[in-house]
Amino acid sequence: MKQGTLENELVLRGVGIHTGTEGRITVCPAPPNSGRVFEVNGTLIPARADFVVDTQRCTTLGNNGERVSTVEHLLSALFVCGVDNARIVVEGSEIPILDGSALPFLEAVRLAGVGEQCAEVVEFVLESELTFTDRDCVMRATPSEDYVLEVTTTFPNWEEGRAQRTFRFTDQVVDEYQAQIALARTFAFDYEVRWLLEQGLAKGGSLDNALVIAPPAQFSTPLRIEAEWCRHKILDLIGDLALLNCRPQMRVSAVCPGHRNNVSLAQRLLKQIDPDD
Ligand code: ZN
Repeated sequence: MKQGTLENELVLRGVGIHTGTEGRITVCPAPPNSGRVFEVNGTLIPARADFVVDTQRCTTLGNNGERVSTVEHLLSALFVCGVDNARIVVEGSEIPILDGSALPFLEAVRLAGVGEQCAEVVEFVLESELTFTDRDCVMRATPSEDYVLEVTTTFPNWEEGRAQRTFRFTDQVVDEYQAQIALARTFAFDYEVRWLLEQGLAKGGSLDNALVIAPPAQFSTPLRIEAEWCRHKILDLIGDLALLNCRPQMRVSAVCPGHRNNVSLAQRLLKQIDPDD
């Protein structure tokens, strides 16, 4: 399979969910083997797991004192669309949250078009099982013919939130992603939202870009799809594992995943891919 990049530049603007400030991104085509790379104030920050500097509530990359937050939804859409190489110029310090899902990114990428490049994609075939646990979270990567992600959500205060969904990278992956995963919004619980606002966090959060859940069954706006929260976890996992900077062949089963453990899995796998790093 060949590497891909955008056929045209795309521009998106909007507030960041954490800073609340307006930002703008320009995603540009990039040469083969250059990878997905952010550019912040002239500093290049590769979208790779070894450049992650923070995983609290979103994934933040950094290099030489520059940072970019909330990269996961954009990276999720780029990865699924086969955009292996892209230069992402960021004005501001955060990727716009838009509607809290990956749908606006996906639509923009499809509109810009994705073209094949001359180089072959870098594949990573997992050869032996890798498992770790962290409190309620269990991350397990096992060898597989395809790339498959399975997420199970459970919540201590919300029994109805127990769900399990699987996403498989097939030949129709982009359409499947659009229908099943990309539309799923960022979510938070009502008690978390109060706490976040008190801490001065989630300054750009609103009912336009997040699903607020009041257990057992109250939602700030109607669900876009059943088990939307579980599907959003798959969206995030795809975006965080895009930090492997290659196309994996493995099955990942994640129970209660979050950015910290998604990135931890990516970092452990990256050591197998690039043992010298
Ligand atoms: Zn997310």
